[in-house]
Amino acid sequence: MSLERSIAAFARAKRVIAGGVNSPVRAFKAVGLSPVFMKSGAGATLHDLDDHEYIDYVLSWGPLILGHAHPAVVKAIAAAAARGTSFGTPTEAETELAELVVSMVPTIERLRFVSSGTEATMSAIRLARGFTRRAKIIKFAGCYHGHADAFLIAAGSGALTNGVPNSPGVTDATALDTIVLPFNDAAAVAHAFETNPETIAAVIVEPYPGNMGLVLPLPGYLQQLRELTTKNGALLIFDEVMTGFRVERGGAAEREGVAPDLTTLGKVIGGGLPVGAFGGRAAVMAYLSPEGPVYQAGTLSGNPVAMAAGIATLRIVRDDATLFDRLEVLTRLLVDGLHEVLSKHGIAHYSTNLGSMFSTFFTPGPVTDLESALKSDTGLFANYYGAMLDRGIYLAPSQFEASFVSTAHTTRNVEQTLAAADAALAHLLARAP
Ligand SMILES: *Cc1c(COP(=O)(O)O)cnc(C)c1O
Repeated sequence: MSLERSIAAFARAKRVIAGGVNSPVRAFKAVGLSPVFMKSGAGATLHDLDDHEYIDYVLSWGPLILGHAHPAVVKAIAAAAARGTSFGTPTEAETELAELVVSMVPTIERLRFVSSGTEATMSAIRLARGFTRRAKIIKFAGCYHGHADAFLIAAGSGALTNGVPNSPGVTDATALDTIVLPFNDAAAVAHAFETNPETIAAVIVEPYPGNMGLVLPLPGYLQQLRELTTKNGALLIFDEVMTGFRVERGGAAEREGVAPDLTTLGKVIGGGLPVGAFGGRAAVMAYLSPEGPVYQAGTLSGNPVAMAAGIATLRIVRDDATLFDRLEVLTRLLVDGLHEVLSKHGIAHYSTNLGSMFSTFFTPGPVTDLESALKSDTGLFANYYGAMLDRGIYLAPSQFEASFVSTAHTTRNVEQTLAAADAALAHLLARAP
């Protein structure tokens, strides 16, 4: 398959954009390929610069639950843009989107809009620290909460409870305030609270982590986090930037029946435009400026064009009574099919799926945390990725990312994908020594 135009476009981009991309994973480094430049999307399909068509399971990394260029969303964006793109004043569109969110996510009483998931999580921990007057946070290895300094921390070695920076530019002082623990290990959280009495402001968690590949919480784990935070006077923050309006109307909190104090949102909430939000208990949100002392702001926060895309998307998500059931059935069909195809070719793998999210790890598993996810054969994944791309299937270009299904995907798309996987694996195994 010739990717001539994409390769040329990447060379041109690299002359003016750092690394040629505006977010590192787009560079395809993890799969050893040159990134594919897209020029258009419609429904479940993408078209690249060299006129190849792909069935898209990345969906802009999650936002496009209705697929590309959904007519209702495009129409809402065009109408809003024609009325003016930004005013820097309150608009009713912000209240309308906020009302939609509050009506769907029971634990959010008040919220505030920002322009990305990173801003949402960064603001949520500042608020949690201001509210509790404590400094430390607990996060889990393999959970991604955007690129704010406080989250770019790796687990410290051995006896260290505090983390260490995992990017140059993050200071040791910042790392001292972030405790990094393994996911799915409630005893580790209990121990951290014991060894750091009255200093932990919040536990932040992706309730269904999607950023080490999709990993599911063990039964009872999220409830244990709720109990431990309550007992120790810390806030529980569910980072639902990926899972919000994706796994259920009320997100993972609704599916699991666990009520966090604060929730962060992004991706689907903006319907493909840059929107994030954080919200929760009214008493906590009252600590935000101008009502309270914790500062947070944004020139383009609540942007009217972005709000319009979010409103159009969430209205459909709210009103389509069978949407989540259909997505889950289609995703299961795909994941079960992939399991059959991989088994037929004798490839060790561990599949996860929940709602419209799924991952295939090239390890026998089980995958329950970062350590077990890292046992995956990333070389095999890279080969599989390339062979699938050649056959018109666009998956997330890393073993450690979740893939997504939209309402635009069909059973025919699933059949095409399974046929491609069968051919891709036959091709790879024929090539193997
Ligand atoms: C994508 C993501 C973020 C970061 O959102 P951006 O909009 O990329 O800043 C934060 N948390 C989770 C769980 C995410 O999946």
